[in-house]
Parts: sequence; structure tokens; C-alpha cells
Amino acid sequence: MYCRNCGKKIDENFKVCPYCGTSYEQNFNMNYNVKQEVNSESNGICYGIIGFFFPIVGLILYLVWMNERPRAAKSAGIGALINVILGVIFAIIVLIFIFLVGVNSL
Ligand SMILES: [Zn+2]
Repeated sequence: MYCRNCGKKIDENFKVCPYCGTSYEQNFNMNYNVKQEVNSESNGICYGIIGFFFPIVGLILYLVWMNERPRAAKSAGIGALINVILGVIFAIIVLIFIFLVGVNSL
């Protein structure tokens, strides 16, 4: 690649241009973030499970990671959502059961 400041050809592995001293640390960090994002993708199911068993944690992870790690945030959020939906369904079943038992006992 070529230095964006002085235009001289430099090694891609260099973090600093040897001719003018321009730092390429930012490029390095960008690559690091991409790698992190790939890792979080493969861990998505784990975050989903965490969100499922601890919906409050899932919700917090969703809100905290929404911008930085959208895929992980989505997984945690979906896990929490599934838990909430199952909880509501379970509550409805319990209410129906209580209602039926109450009607029969009258
Ligand atoms: Zn340079």
C-alpha cells in the first residue's frame, strides 16, 4: 500500500510510515473490530441463551450493545423476548387453569 500522507510505498504490516511518521494504528483497530464482530457472531447463540434465562441481563446487553455489537445485541434481545413470550403464555395457561378450577368448585 501507499502512504496516504506522503505517497511513498510502504509495507502493509507497518503501523507507522517510515518516511513521514503517519500512523496506521486506526486501520489495525478497524481490523480488530471486524474480528471481534465475527467472534460475537459465533457467540450469538450463547447470548441468546443468556437472554433467555436472564431476560433482564439480555435486555441490558441488548441496550448496551445495540450500536457496538448489533448481532450479539440482537441475539441477547431475542433470547429475552422468547423468555417473556413464554412467560406470558405460561401466565395465561395458569390463569385459564385457575379460572376453570374456580368455576368447577362453585
Ligand atoms: Zn508517509
